Amino acid sequence: MREIALFERELDETPIQALSDSYDDNRIFMKRDDLIPFSFGGNKARKAAEFYKEIKNADIDVVMTYGSNSSNHCRIVANMAAGMGISCHIISPEEHREVLNNTKLVADFGASVETCPVDKVSETIEHRKEAYRNEGRNPYFITGGGHGNPGTESYVKAYREIERQEKRGGLYFDYIFHASGTGATQAGLVCGQLLSGDMKRKIVGISIARDRERGGNVVKDSIREYLAETFEKLYREEALIFDDSYRLGGYGNYTEEVEKTIDFVMQREGIPMDTTYVGKAFHGMLGFLREHQIQGKRILFVHTGGAPLYFDRLTGK
Ligand SMILES: *Cc1c(COP(=O)(O)O)cnc(C)c1O
Repeated sequence: MREIALFERELDETPIQALSDSYDDNRIFMKRDDLIPFSFGGNKARKAAEFYKEIKNADIDVVMTYGSNSSNHCRIVANMAAGMGISCHIISPEEHREVLNNTKLVADFGASVETCPVDKVSETIEHRKEAYRNEGRNPYFITGGGHGNPGTESYVKAYREIERQEKRGGLYFDYIFHASGTGATQAGLVCGQLLSGDMKRKIVGISIARDRERGGNVVKDSIREYLAETFEKLYREEALIFDDSYRLGGYGNYTEEVEKTIDFVMQREGIPMDTTYVGKAFHGMLGFLREHQIQGKRILFVHTGGAPLYFDRLTGK
């Protein structure tokens, strides 16, 4: 197994950048997790840095995960496995067969992609793990989206990083917004806040797909799993804001308004955002600030990456 030098120590801080004063009456800042210097960055790269440690510390020779092979998650996991010189096996739902930039990257990284119907996912994963073990190999399975304690841990660290950056910059963010999908990013940020004990600010996950009930429960379960025996003592219901008002009908859907916001931010700030996650959530955040009449606040938006998706849109996908 080879080492990936970047993941051998803690990641460097990602920059927090002030945006122009174009967004109503609030000051908006962006935390550039899209600039994590591995495989086009993003929150999956941050999560991968934690999974890397687990894989390194066990005698793993094949990394398995579940997800669409056009996803940011699968791209990063496949890239990490390639970098470590071990095999990567992706179980992918056959219902999503779009060929996007990530799909091509996953193939370039040499991952094997096995498709199965969505309702056969668990058994396919179990069969495949078993088959590897029977061959005398040692598989490591990463839950879809980088869900699970290592993924949560990566954003607990990001939360602490934000606190350090605030202290150094002499400023305080009243709100932290981000795109919420499988919920590990949000679970990590909220655990970071609960552990720090500062309940003044609000962390708002803008759902890009799930409804409040399901999405919120998944985030809560991840928080419970991470905090373990300290959950009852630390958890506060008001710390978990999973807003499903800006889903626009579900995963992957967006409107012309979202595109306008994306083009505006690109032209004004030079920051690319995709339509599935970051642009959709940034647009949702602007809606949230308006609807809740939030003014005169300092707002931090976490840019969670997805650069290849930005280029998909440019080439008409
Ligand atoms: C996966 C992803 C998200 C959602 O993160 P979760 O931790 O799954 O909620 C947001 N933005 C981008 C670009 C992603 O790839």
